[in-house]
Amino acid sequence: MKTDALIKKALSHPRALGVADLAELVSLTDEGAIREVRAAAYDLKCRHCGKFVSMRGLIEIGNVCAKDCLYCGIRKSNASLSRYRLTVDDIERMARVSALQNYGSLVLQGGEIESEANTAFIEDCLRRIAPLNLGVTLSLGEQTEEVYRRWKEAGAARYLLRIETSNPLLYARLHPADHSWERRVDCLRALRRCGYQVGTGVMCALPGQTSEDLARDIVFFGDIDADMIGMGPYIPHPDTPLGQIAPPMENAERLRLGLNMIAATRLYLHDINIAATTALQALADNGREQGVLAGANVMMPNVTDVGYRRSYQLYAGKPCLDENALACRGCLERRLALLGERINYGQRGDSPHFHRRTGTPEG
Ligand code: SAM
Ligand code: SF4
Repeated sequence: MKTDALIKKALSHPRALGVADLAELVSLTDEGAIREVRAAAYDLKCRHCGKFVSMRGLIEIGNVCAKDCLYCGIRKSNASLSRYRLTVDDIERMARVSALQNYGSLVLQGGEIESEANTAFIEDCLRRIAPLNLGVTLSLGEQTEEVYRRWKEAGAARYLLRIETSNPLLYARLHPADHSWERRVDCLRALRRCGYQVGTGVMCALPGQTSEDLARDIVFFGDIDADMIGMGPYIPHPDTPLGQIAPPMENAERLRLGLNMIAATRLYLHDINIAATTALQALADNGREQGVLAGANVMMPNVTDVGYRRSYQLYAGKPCLDENALACRGCLERRLALLGERINYGQRGDSPHFHRRTGTPEG
């Protein structure tokens, strides 16, 4: 189908595109067609989220992980890493830094740990930061429904759990045999039952991944009725099994794929929150701004103390290793102003889709 016909179909209503349409959008390489598609996706973003970008201060709470995902720099078998876990006091202090930047939301992200001690620790953190009145997202991997419920009751509002790929066979090639794609899907369903704003996402540019896989990823986001999407290109890490065997894909190609995914997802789902992730910035200095122009409306500036950032490298070339939260805010503000976009200061920036599907008023 011609690009303008695809765009017209996409705009007619959410989820109008089929797998073949989405595969076509994701694999676009013609610059004129890409420009048209991104402009349409950006218009949709402005219609649903305004000319604003919502910020979530990102705290990388620890790099201890029980999992061994074959692509991830903090997987448990990577011995070339010094491990850390922030304390409740550390996390409260960094949350205050985020609140001081007037970011209305916070993300606590880290390795996956399933234990009563860790569950109680996260509850403590959530209760300690509750008075700051921030929208809190957790990204702490697979847990039982009971744990998700406890964290929700302690103050978390959103949870981000990427499915990584919607293709179970590809998932199996990227993870050890005891990591389960089905459990991840069950966790997403459990998060919904607990009343979270649910985020998922995938990596693109994975070895062995096809355009059809990526198109089906976007359909999966719709089927799970996701409120938010955090996705980005896979970037090899030299100390991981996948980083050692993966055939190199040019950075420009990874970036194009990441941006095509954002635009196609916006055109498919219309009113969800989509993050312009740090992996985009790792591939191009202005990668996140390009993400906004392709339809993203959320950024996650790092507010972790700079001393910890080198120990939380999921992939090679992580940006902003030495930039503190204040410098980061100034830089983002200038960059967004050049696009005619403003930071959604002091606002939680909830997913419009979440409020629509739950009938709750937008905050
Ligand atoms: N441990 C939790 C989990 O896996 O859901 C949350 C933290 S984990 C580091 C966050 C995300 O980092 C993963 O969902 C994965 O998509 C991404 N990631 C890990 N290694 C990556 C790599 N080499 N390139 C790009 N993204 C990567
Ligand atoms: Fe652990 Fe998440 Fe990395 Fe997998 S992606 S090894 S679960 S931190």
